[in-house]
Amino acid sequence: MLYKKNNLYIEKVSSISLSKKVKTPFYCYSYKKIEDNINRFKSNFKSIKPLICFSVKSNNNLHILKIIRSFGLGADVVSKGELLRAIKAGINPNKIVFSGVGKTPEEINFAIKKKILLINAESHSEVETIENIAKKNKKKINIGLRLNPNIDAQTLKKISTGRNEDKFGINEKELLKILKAFHNSKHLKIKCLSVHIGSQILDHKPYSKMIKVINNFINKSKYKFEYIDLGGGMGINYNLNKKVLNYKKYYSEIKKFLKKHRVKIIFEPGRSIIGDAALLITKIIYIKPANNKNFIILDAAMNDFMRPALYGASHNIVPLKKNRNILNKVHDFVGPVCESTDKFLTLKKYQKLKKNEILAICDVGAYGIVLASNYNLRTKPIEVLVNSSKFKIISKREYINKII
Ligand SMILES: *Cc1c(COP(=O)(O)O)cnc(C)c1O
Repeated sequence: MLYKKNNLYIEKVSSISLSKKVKTPFYCYSYKKIEDNINRFKSNFKSIKPLICFSVKSNNNLHILKIIRSFGLGADVVSKGELLRAIKAGINPNKIVFSGVGKTPEEINFAIKKKILLINAESHSEVETIENIAKKNKKKINIGLRLNPNIDAQTLKKISTGRNEDKFGINEKELLKILKAFHNSKHLKIKCLSVHIGSQILDHKPYSKMIKVINNFINKSKYKFEYIDLGGGMGINYNLNKKVLNYKKYYSEIKKFLKKHRVKIIFEPGRSIIGDAALLITKIIYIKPANNKNFIILDAAMNDFMRPALYGASHNIVPLKKNRNILNKVHDFVGPVCESTDKFLTLKKYQKLKKNEILAICDVGAYGIVLASNYNLRTKPIEVLVNSSKFKIISKREYINKII
């Protein structure tokens, strides 16, 4: 995304001409950005050659998954639906890991039939269920155990997953018990220790702590894991914050760890691969002045993009066409849905705007379209992929007649 003569471009496509061809609101991805993000992620951890399993819950568009597969990534899935989608995108099951606190016996059975790399279990009860199903299938199944390292990832409360009070993972004591109970199982092979402490992490210190906890746990248990799955959570620069994660420090901690333990590293990034690779293009329906502020009423709403309403997340909003006339007045960018939380952003000033003008909500590639709903009986937005000077539509438009 860049401006040329005050016009916003996505690669070589003018966003204004695109918005005349595709009905707003719509998601617009950049192929180049996805490619760059994957290459950067790989080069950040080059010498350790990790298995990178893209977190499908952050974006499950079939076309996007095919692109991600084309760069050799695997998948981290959290449901049968995501597993089916990942396989449909051509991702090799031996690069797929299955996470989640509540996998049903049906989902576990399906994952076993598909011969995926690892089922990462999150409770004693789940390990028992996996063992029973493996037995019925007369198989020996590779599993991981997800440790809850009791670490505060210093991110939004609602996307933190590694503290004692969070529902995810297994505490140390319980995990030691599970290792003892199942290490000789005929139907299970415990191959992996996994963690995932949260999302949008910008400080490397929680990661350093996490590695310490893993190191101590391995020493305490004396168990030989083949894989350590470090999860995802790497934060991105949402324009409004200026912070970036220090990958060098994280990388050097991992390298130190690997000198002590000969294991293969798995990552499960979602946001850091796809988050900043998309815009949500939206039109101003009305501008309503009220109490010293302007409500900018957009045709995109919380049903199209829920992160601000759901987590209080901030996403920048930029004009497709820049001008120099600044209006020093509070601007509330809101959607048409009948909820007060249907608000994207408040800014103290903005360039002069007009009815029917088009704007772009930034960095919506992760946890964007996947969280869209039909609330207020609105159709979901379509998705467009730009590659160099070409664009194509990569999801089916919903028709109002079909959904009513
Ligand atoms: C959501 C999730 C991820 C991806 O997190 P990002 O912040 O998008 O990188 C990885 N692993 C697990 C287990 C998750 O639940």
